[in-house]
Amino acid sequence: MESELAQFKNPQLAKKELEIIRYYAPPEAVLMEVCGTHTVSIARNGIRDLMPKGIRLASGPGCPVCVTANKDIDTVIALARIPEVTIATFGDMTRVPGSTSSLLKEQAKGKSVRIVYSPLDALTLARKNPDRQIVFVGVGFETTTPLVAMAVKRAADMKLKNFSVFAAHKNMPGALEAIISDPRLKVSALILPGHVSTIIGAQPYQFLAKKYGIPGVITGFEPVDMLQGIAMIMKQLHDKTASIEIAYARGVMPEGNPVARAAIDEVFETCTSTWRGLGPIPGSGYKLREKYAAFDALKRFHPDVEPTQNPHGCRCGDVLRGIMAPNQCPHFRRLCTPENPVGPCMVSSEGSCAAYYRYY
Ligand code: SF4
Repeated sequence: MESELAQFKNPQLAKKELEIIRYYAPPEAVLMEVCGTHTVSIARNGIRDLMPKGIRLASGPGCPVCVTANKDIDTVIALARIPEVTIATFGDMTRVPGSTSSLLKEQAKGKSVRIVYSPLDALTLARKNPDRQIVFVGVGFETTTPLVAMAVKRAADMKLKNFSVFAAHKNMPGALEAIISDPRLKVSALILPGHVSTIIGAQPYQFLAKKYGIPGVITGFEPVDMLQGIAMIMKQLHDKTASIEIAYARGVMPEGNPVARAAIDEVFETCTSTWRGLGPIPGSGYKLREKYAAFDALKRFHPDVEPTQNPHGCRCGDVLRGIMAPNQCPHFRRLCTPENPVGPCMVSSEGSCAAYYRYY
């Protein structure tokens, strides 16, 4: 298995894919990667600099922490301020600035915030602390949503009364439609996410090719994966065709993972969700179904959320739309660094600003 994986870092194979890219590349094109892990892989492996002149790789809204709206961050902070509540969340979320505070600052003031690595850890926390109300912060795409669904189902089976979820999950296809309809950036093709597609498969992206004539390739994360995906896109652009292809066949089946999708569907239904930088997008979020409303933290606690203010001068919205590169933001490396982030794109390890800070 190790040698098989090593192939995806093989310089000779990378060179071959680069030759294909250079052969088929049109004079100009914008390729958007819509997965934070792809953003990091492109930056870490210097792939942006290898592209032929005229080919721009733009980062999109693929970092789950980054796309979480300021109001949602403020809501989590308001939940943390409720005395009986313990917030259970992934580490990145603790550092994201809300309007006037962050979970880390609230923790420093004595509020109860615990970092977990999975929603099932939050469930264990609830079982071990029956005197506390554990609220799990559900952010992210379909890679994390099935696990949250499983945690909610398990909590229901166990009749746990001290576990709930703040659901701010998102799904990618609705956001992609918003981005490609934006006249400010003409996206020629999409490098589609590997992890999310493991769950949802290729079908939800078909509208990109059929309705908008935009090619897309589902791609893995190693350097050869990335270059292979880009090469397949270049061939489509050259041939003036548009279809959704899978370059990450070792991870993604066309139909995705039906078991994980069924788990999501059992517990969640789609709803309008507000994305940082993109605004409200119908059908792009998940909320708990009525059957599981008892596990909805908003319905249980009705938190008192402060008026939302966006971080002053932060251009995360434009970065997430691919309209500007992170190093074009006036705060980049000046006011805004990973130690003192102004916006979430500098906080998250998958954020475009953090990737630029580290590798450019
Ligand atoms: Fe926001 Fe900082 Fe990125 Fe500028 S560099 S867009 S302030 S996160």
